[in-house]
Amino acid sequence: MATRTFTYDFSNEASGFRKKSSFPSGLFINGSSLINPTTAKSLGHITVASERDIDIAVEAAQKAFNTTWGLHTSGQQRGKLLIRLAELIEENIDELAALESLDNGKAVAIAKSGDVQSAADVLRYYGGWADKVQGKTIEVDEATLAYTRHEPLGVVGQITPCSGNGNTVVFKPSEWTPLTALRVASLIKEAGFPPGVVNIVPGLGNVAGSAISNHMGIEKVAFTGSTPVGRAIMKAAASSNLKRVTLELGGKSPTLILDDCNLDNAARWAVFGVLFNHGQTCCAGTRIYVQDTIYDKFLEKFVAVMKAVKVGDPFHPDTFQGPQVSKTQFDRIMNHIEIGKKEGATCLLGGQQHGTEGYFIQPTIFTDVKPDMTIVKEEIFGPVGVVAKFSNDEELIALANDSYYGLASAVFSESLPRALKLANALKAGTVWVNTYNTIRTNVPFGGYKQSGQGRELGEYALQNYTEVKAVHVNLSGPPPF
Ligand code: NAD
Repeated sequence: MATRTFTYDFSNEASGFRKKSSFPSGLFINGSSLINPTTAKSLGHITVASERDIDIAVEAAQKAFNTTWGLHTSGQQRGKLLIRLAELIEENIDELAALESLDNGKAVAIAKSGDVQSAADVLRYYGGWADKVQGKTIEVDEATLAYTRHEPLGVVGQITPCSGNGNTVVFKPSEWTPLTALRVASLIKEAGFPPGVVNIVPGLGNVAGSAISNHMGIEKVAFTGSTPVGRAIMKAAASSNLKRVTLELGGKSPTLILDDCNLDNAARWAVFGVLFNHGQTCCAGTRIYVQDTIYDKFLEKFVAVMKAVKVGDPFHPDTFQGPQVSKTQFDRIMNHIEIGKKEGATCLLGGQQHGTEGYFIQPTIFTDVKPDMTIVKEEIFGPVGVVAKFSNDEELIALANDSYYGLASAVFSESLPRALKLANALKAGTVWVNTYNTIRTNVPFGGYKQSGQGRELGEYALQNYTEVKAVHVNLSGPPPF
């Protein structure tokens, strides 16, 4: 098994990170070419794990769980390591943000303040929780002591780096964006985690991903990705060892623009909701419902803000929208745009490739849409929003909830009672009022309906990572016969 090194010279990029990045890119089995979405050219080769590699990673994780981690390391010590890793991520934030922009295409400023800083924040938050996960004593009767323990599950297969409860991890990043995960692998080692606690296995979904979800030695899979793959993972869990599954899946989230909103703010947030992360956001606000009395005024402002967004090189400091992550995604989005036109919607803005190089797509708005159109129903996962009218709140609730997804939503109104009434009626795991995309480490995030199962973040996520054991102790002697 040969070891590869990934090297990239950032000195010509405007990212603020001016050095070379070089780190082991893991085990090399069947090299897969990694593409730079800004230029559509290869960045070099990366490792992809085979089924056998997943077995090796699971064995290492099981060994660590049974010997050094799990119940063998105190919560306090596990917490210290997570917090140390958070510090190391912050110390290397410029490099990690530059790497994230390189393979994902997202604007480097957003990668830094959003993704990389959030990763550090999440590690620090759960580092704080690590010694505060505890069971209860339960009053039964004088002759019985009953209590619960919240025990770690064992090996968790996941794509988010969190092991605060004593579980060990086999983590497969996306084949399109493995770089930061591989760089963080060196930081995990530097932080002092025992070997085998976190194992990073970049690979293809139908090989490495499938091996994880079918593995008999993995107790839980935390999956973030599309709804069809989430379905496949549940099936694999059901037909292997009934492992626990939490799913963070796709969405088609509604943004509700009411006639009493602050129009300027609503237009800006609505654009942010569609274009954040070049539209490659699970919770993107891509269905925009506008009250008929303010429709024309809102649309004018919304289009003006969209037109002003800088699309281009993710390393340029003014860029908000970079390229789509891959040719596959680019083609999928362009295909949805064509379907939208064919089904009779009006393409009011954009609808074409931006420039001629790389996977850039113009910010795109469709109007004159009907509820059963493909572009209203399906997640596009690109910089494409649809705008429709409503006349009263009852009609609005029906339109907003007319989706098999239920990840997020937003309400724009200056009337708090009206906004909160709508917030209660929306079938979505998150409702933003007069904002969009504000995700906090200590607030749960997850989906209703086919947008997922379970919650990540905050105290709510902890229950996904422990088993509750009930212990009954008889204090009074023989059985009653
Ligand atoms: P995807 O479902 O194609 O891939 C996600 C991951 O699953 C990748 O690591 C992939 O290799 C793996 N995979 C693919 N086939 C598999 C299989 N058969 N078995 C096991 N693993 C497999 O999704 P994507 O295109 O990388 O990401 C976009 C999707 O992710 C969108 O639908 C988006 O909404 C969703 N997403 C959801 C959240 C959330 O928190 N709800 C966050 C980000 C993205």
